[in-house]
Amino acid sequence: MKTIVVGSGLGGLLSAAYLAKSGHDVEVFEALPFTGGRFTNIDYKGFKLSTGALHMVPHGDSGPLSQMLKKLNADVNIVTSNPSSVIRMPANDNDTDYKNGFRDMAFHDFKVPFSLINRIKIAFLAFTTKYFPPKKGTFDDWIKHHINEKWATRIANSFCGWSISLKSSDVSAKEVFEIISNLYRYSGPGVPTGGCKGITNALVEIIQENGGKIYTGKEVTEIITSNNHAKGVVADGDKYYSDLIISDIGHIETNRLCKNVTETEEYVQYKNQLQNIKSSAGIKISLACDEPLIGHGGVVLTPYSKRIDGMNEVTNVDKTLAPEGKHLVMTHQCLRWDRLDDIEEEIELGLQDIRDIFLNKDYEVLMVQSYHDGWPVNRSASSQDLSNKTPISNLYVVGDGAKGEGGIEIEGITLGVLNTMDMVLS
Ligand code: FAD
Repeated sequence: MKTIVVGSGLGGLLSAAYLAKSGHDVEVFEALPFTGGRFTNIDYKGFKLSTGALHMVPHGDSGPLSQMLKKLNADVNIVTSNPSSVIRMPANDNDTDYKNGFRDMAFHDFKVPFSLINRIKIAFLAFTTKYFPPKKGTFDDWIKHHINEKWATRIANSFCGWSISLKSSDVSAKEVFEIISNLYRYSGPGVPTGGCKGITNALVEIIQENGGKIYTGKEVTEIITSNNHAKGVVADGDKYYSDLIISDIGHIETNRLCKNVTETEEYVQYKNQLQNIKSSAGIKISLACDEPLIGHGGVVLTPYSKRIDGMNEVTNVDKTLAPEGKHLVMTHQCLRWDRLDDIEEEIELGLQDIRDIFLNKDYEVLMVQSYHDGWPVNRSASSQDLSNKTPISNLYVVGDGAKGEGGIEIEGITLGVLNTMDMVLS
């Protein structure tokens, strides 16, 4: 069977590798001159920065992505972070300014700052929500209804901001409880040796070893359809035909490329759903330092900062991500939809947080990257994902525009790819 994959991001490469290994004749078309999309490295001053991700696999060596990579026999090493995550607390409860001191607390102790009554309530809710997870409302609504303590909102915003680049008021409670249950199921996170590129390059190798072809610098400008059936693509003015098309560029962009579609009821419904999709945006700041600023390879959540939700120092896991004797710290902050016109101000607030958190420390700001519109954190904000299916037969969408439920970032992409593989290979 001949398969065309549009886009060589993680979703496209995972699908292509899986299908090439299953005997499909695969061709991947990538518009940029390199593969990996938002999951590869940028070499800068000897540091391995990234096109997007913070070099982290949310569920480390035991999550859906790692399991799929093992199944594909990919030459990848994911080192589980230890500690997995900590929460940066102010040293003094009455002074929440990090520049006046802080202490790090293990993530699983997040209940400690709550009042006694709320700690009891949380233990009860942890049990009941396991069997009766919330069906409606945002996570913020849920918190305010059940706990209504400032600390709950703070830690929820920091956790959601770091893990899915959304505030707790912008994601459904249902999705967050799925995420939490996956955190207990798989644990994590971890850092792949070689960073993001360590994973995407391994997938490129698998595709090529199994006879697949990858064309870089070749943008797909049309998905050819006939009677709402996908037949092939146009790239660089040439037509390429196939039995199956997997698109890694999100539902909106995929639909834009489809020409001559008949407006069936199903298609009109789909087009209406596309209008509700919102991407999630964020800002990443990369820092260089001689001495470690964090000292471990786990996540540091920063619920008391103005903008930064969390940070990591991946060189504690893989020294090769920086020049010899140097460390690489990356911070992440969610960029809210109502602040998209004020990105410079948001960056300045992020930099101010860094100055407060690392007061009197030596570091250099290597790069500030903002992610939105066509190059966002997630093409579909978590809990707004559509299915991997489209109303065009033989055309499927993978990637972070069609993640599986409860899957943080690339783990969600993997769940979506697995779902797609089930459909196309059954
Ligand atoms: P993409 O990577 O965007 O790939 C799509 C590809 O398609 C691109 O290469 C693009 O050039 C190509 N393309 C587009 N249009 C066409 C066309 N018409 N023809 C041909 N090719 C085309 N996730 C984690 O799990 N861990 C993290 O630590 C993490 N941190 C993040 C931090 C930031 C700041 C950002 C931005 C993202 C982060 N993510 C993280 C999310 C993760 O990086 C993305 O979800 C993932 O890389 C998206 O992969 P994808 O395959 O969906 O899409």
